[in-house]
Amino acid sequence: METRLIGKSFLDGKPLEILISEGKIKSVLSIETSPENVWVGPGFTDIQVNGYGGLDYNAIQSDVLALGQISRKLLSYGVTSHFPTIITNSPEKISALIQQVVQHRKMDSLAQSCITGIHIEGPFISPEDGPRGAHYREFVQAPNWNLFQKWIEESEGLIRMITLSPEWEGSASFIEKCMEYGILVSIGHTNASHAQILEAVTAGAGLSTHLGNGMHGIIARHPNYLWSQLAAENLSATIIADGFHLPAEVIQVFRKVKAEKLILVSDSVALAGMPPGDYDAAVGGKVTLTLNNKLHLFGNPNTLAGSAMNILQGINFLLKNEQTNLSEAWQMASIRAQRLFDTSFEPIQIGQNADLIVAEQAPDQTLKILKVLKNGVEIPLD
Ligand SMILES: [Zn+2]
Repeated sequence: METRLIGKSFLDGKPLEILISEGKIKSVLSIETSPENVWVGPGFTDIQVNGYGGLDYNAIQSDVLALGQISRKLLSYGVTSHFPTIITNSPEKISALIQQVVQHRKMDSLAQSCITGIHIEGPFISPEDGPRGAHYREFVQAPNWNLFQKWIEESEGLIRMITLSPEWEGSASFIEKCMEYGILVSIGHTNASHAQILEAVTAGAGLSTHLGNGMHGIIARHPNYLWSQLAAENLSATIIADGFHLPAEVIQVFRKVKAEKLILVSDSVALAGMPPGDYDAAVGGKVTLTLNNKLHLFGNPNTLAGSAMNILQGINFLLKNEQTNLSEAWQMASIRAQRLFDTSFEPIQIGQNADLIVAEQAPDQTLKILKVLKNGVEIPLD
């Protein structure tokens, strides 16, 4: 059976007709016209997902199959690939959480095709209050290659990236080993000096994790780790665009500096996608999720307790606030993340798996998903 998608290309707005057969893109044709405000493009890739819809990759599940709900819920918002993100914990717990993702993927073919990597965020980050964020202090440690190599083996090659702080001695040689294994090293939760950041970039670090967050509240005017990462030509950067983690003007500056190297992540926690209310969270204790998706400590609206939005909501924040146009926001949430791992990646090519979205742009500029295909199969929308 063949499926036909029609819409304006997410890259240049020119009308396209895409034919899909047996799960793959069979042909891509330029056509004369397509429906007004209807766009077509690749599914979103989110390389930082801690959890979603009440389910948590950072908690041991009594039934691992329950985790499949994360892939399904994210798919309904257009996220056709994501990286479960496992944060700082005891080495044993990190092993168990990695194995849980691996086991769950083997039992659930849809989740297997949605989970295209694992992101390890920690435990080799800054021990300092501020840069450390909500990560547990007691489990933070210096980079330990033997330990990380054990996790790589336990992940059966699924670990694709690690967020660390190069403030630790031995970081450069650790980063070089990651490069040998084809693992992307991202700088985050850091209190590193300018020299340490330069050394990390020379060793192969290619990304900054949620730039502008996981920082001290107050830093020296210069030098500081924010200028150093902004200035580093070879560092791409991810941002959380939920409207709470970064003010709009900070995103504007990051966009000017990083240009096509600026990438969107959700960094969603388990409570993302849940109804507003008060909850007991695994990290942070009692928290409140507001109607407009702000997640903060109970009774303390100024202290965020993680991001409660999916990547589509991040795109819509950018569009509603006229931070980017539709094409740029879509690229920030899709091909730019994929190119971190495959520099020559081109979207919508014949023979590719048909992971595609058709979406309508509303008068307020936001995107509404009309259709999601994963491997050519239409996904029920949430
Ligand atoms: Zn983080």
